[in-house]
Amino acid sequence: MELPISVDLSGKTAVITGGGGVLCSGFAKTLAAAGARVAVLDINEAAANAVAQEIEAAGGAACGVRADCLDMDSLRAAAEQVEACFGPCDILINGAGGNHPGATTDAEVFDPADGKSFFALDPSAFARVFGLNVQAAVMTTQAFAKPMTRRGGTIINVSSMNAYRPLTKIPAYSAAKAAVSNFTQWLAVYLAPCGVRVNAIAPGFFLTNQNRGLLLREDGSYAPRAEKILAHTPQGRFGEPEDLAGTLLWLASEDASAFVTGVVVPVDGGFAAYSGV
Ligand code: NAD
Repeated sequence: MELPISVDLSGKTAVITGGGGVLCSGFAKTLAAAGARVAVLDINEAAANAVAQEIEAAGGAACGVRADCLDMDSLRAAAEQVEACFGPCDILINGAGGNHPGATTDAEVFDPADGKSFFALDPSAFARVFGLNVQAAVMTTQAFAKPMTRRGGTIINVSSMNAYRPLTKIPAYSAAKAAVSNFTQWLAVYLAPCGVRVNAIAPGFFLTNQNRGLLLREDGSYAPRAEKILAHTPQGRFGEPEDLAGTLLWLASEDASAFVTGVVVPVDGGFAAYSGV
């Protein structure tokens, strides 16, 4: 794998949650290609193992680990397993996250005829989205980052465009990612005296399993929402997982970003900068 910037992470242990998914499997492969030993964590064990095997087949060091980021026992067991294989975590990527259809309205603005309006959303689906994006990052950090307070390390959360301004239809996911950005800043301040840096990447729009239903029609053509996104992305395209690699490596490397903590970096083709006019 060719890396966009040259960074040496050999001797480092990286832990990536949601590592079986589209964006985070890319993160795992990128960090492994830079020399890190990579623990690929996912609630979907088969997906985690498949990514780890791909990394090993390419000559890297990786292990797949089943972990539910909303279950502290599962996280503690995963932390023990990773430490036994690769030693303590130096780089933690809190990547598990996503939306839920139960917390998504049918229409962009209130319409009494809307089948699923805000007023009909299931509060438990709302809570589930907060859990997966916010609570999971908090709990995974508790399970993996304590040793960092003695030896330093770096934590990278995954925020989103909707943390800056909410996107229509997805109130829970928008509010949850705003909380991820906020937690990133809080934790950066709290852990700064221990030499632990905490930052976040805010990806723009990438076509992945999570948003396919909202962005594509059944025949694979762009839905109106996708057209709208592209019209508001000055670079005029969706992101590719490789677009995130340079920012990831920069933030993961102590040499490259030693004085950078508490930032949320948009990687979005200009979406966040564009007012639409
Ligand atoms: P994805 O659905 O491909 O991957 C998410 C992974 O998380 C899956 O492999 C899933 O099995 C795993 N997971 C779900 N619940 C879990 C749990 N409780 N414990 C452990 N693992 C669990 O999603 P993706 O699009 O690659 O997104 C990765 C991250 O990037 C998410 O935080 C997402 O919110 C964020 N993000 C995505 C986009 C995008 O355009 N796709 C944009 C901005 C931010």
